[in-house]
Amino acid sequence: MADRLARVLTTDGQVRGIAAVTTELADEARTRHGTFPTATAALGRALTSALLLASTGKRDERLSLEFTGDGPLRGLLAEATPEGTARGFAFRPKTDVPPRNGKLDVGGALGAGQLCVMRVPLDGGSLYRSIVPLVSGEIGIDIASYLTQSAQIPSAVGVGVLVGPDGGVMAAGGYLLQAMPGADEAALDRLATHVERAPSPSDLVRTGQGPVDMLRVVFADVPIRVLEEYPVRFACRCSPERVRRAIVAMGRDEIGALLAEGRPAEAVCEFCSTAYTVDEPELRELLAGLD
Ligand SMILES: [Zn+2]
Repeated sequence: MADRLARVLTTDGQVRGIAAVTTELADEARTRHGTFPTATAALGRALTSALLLASTGKRDERLSLEFTGDGPLRGLLAEATPEGTARGFAFRPKTDVPPRNGKLDVGGALGAGQLCVMRVPLDGGSLYRSIVPLVSGEIGIDIASYLTQSAQIPSAVGVGVLVGPDGGVMAAGGYLLQAMPGADEAALDRLATHVERAPSPSDLVRTGQGPVDMLRVVFADVPIRVLEEYPVRFACRCSPERVRRAIVAMGRDEIGALLAEGRPAEAVCEFCSTAYTVDEPELRELLAGLD
């Protein structure tokens, strides 16, 4: 099943559901950053959560999740757009801690800390920012707690990444269920029961279920209407042009110093690990452009 995201609404209009298959995306993040299994699972869960939340936002804004903790992983940054692109990184990609109860211990790797949720308008409008303490560091529970407590939207979230024996991502995905404004208590109770009984998202993905199938499983006997379905992928906004602009911003003296040392300028994008090299002739060109 290719990476996709779907949004549905129960036909009674009380609850909306979003689900995503993110196996390829999570594995691309792993290969780009060289993450070890616990970091792979943590980053895949964060990227999936960012995609789910971004799909509930406006077309012209970017959603950012920053997890910081006192565990060996230190933190995660994940960004996504409503168009279905996501990028991100783990602060310490080579983090691997012993499993707990037979599962990758993402909460133990992250430790105690906080989650910062930001919605950044692309047109430069005012930014939404909310900071909450981590509940478990397991990512899904932290996102659900943020939505229910801080954003006041009763929500259930499940995100999961299955890492294979070779360290590769075998299955990744997640779902988000949210009460619509004015939903009754009974609908919310039903929702909680469904989520408790639902298999883990990575199990659903592993057995070949797409995002709409996943939501049909989670909603069980509640009829749903599919609103939208679209592909999702890992994508970064960095480019050689952005790197050149950053070098120009360093100023004449810094560029001159690089030329004097006879070495090229090198930069690595922290979001996607793409390495950029600007060689001597190009540095001279950029320097000449400053005249
Ligand atoms: Zn990049």
